[in-house]
Amino acid sequence: MNSTSLQIPLADEAATLTLGAAIAPHLLPGMFITLTGDLGAGKTTLTRGVLRGLGYTGRVKSPTYTLVELYVFSRLNLYHFDFYRLLDREEWHEAGFRDLFNETNVCLVEWPEKAHGELPPPDLAIHLAITGESRVATLTAHSVRASPLAAALTNP
Ligand code: ADP
Ligand code: MG
Repeated sequence: MNSTSLQIPLADEAATLTLGAAIAPHLLPGMFITLTGDLGAGKTTLTRGVLRGLGYTGRVKSPTYTLVELYVFSRLNLYHFDFYRLLDREEWHEAGFRDLFNETNVCLVEWPEKAHGELPPPDLAIHLAITGESRVATLTAHSVRASPLAAALTNP
């Protein structure tokens, strides 16, 4: 499909959390979203916003060492990955990560480029760029089911 990108300026941390919360109601079972951008760009912060939007009130840990954290909601299962420290394909296979990218789970993935080419294509790609003291998010829908999400964020 034709993918169109949407740029959203994020003035501060609260704006990043708000964007995450705005994405939350549009998540569908099976959706896979990549989060790219430098260290400190706000990938974990955005995930925290999504989880808050889904009603989660607990602490959101960065899965830097565990590589993945699972959050269970009545409506969906959300897996938050961070592949920054994924060593190789063997670790990927042994952990059984492939099976988690299925038609039921929502997967949010930090550092998808470190997954050694094992990831399927995402429904939505979110890139966070550091611009001075703030951030700019670029959202690109890559699937038909992610298009309504991008449209909703364009016309909030
Ligand atoms: P990453 O997961 O990409 O490494 P984190 O979310 O852990 O980044 O950290 C991002 C840092 O930047 C946090 O200190 C957070 O408060 C801050 N931050 C998040 N969003 C913004 C924003 N829009 N403008 C300025 N600072 C932000
Ligand atoms: Mg992070």
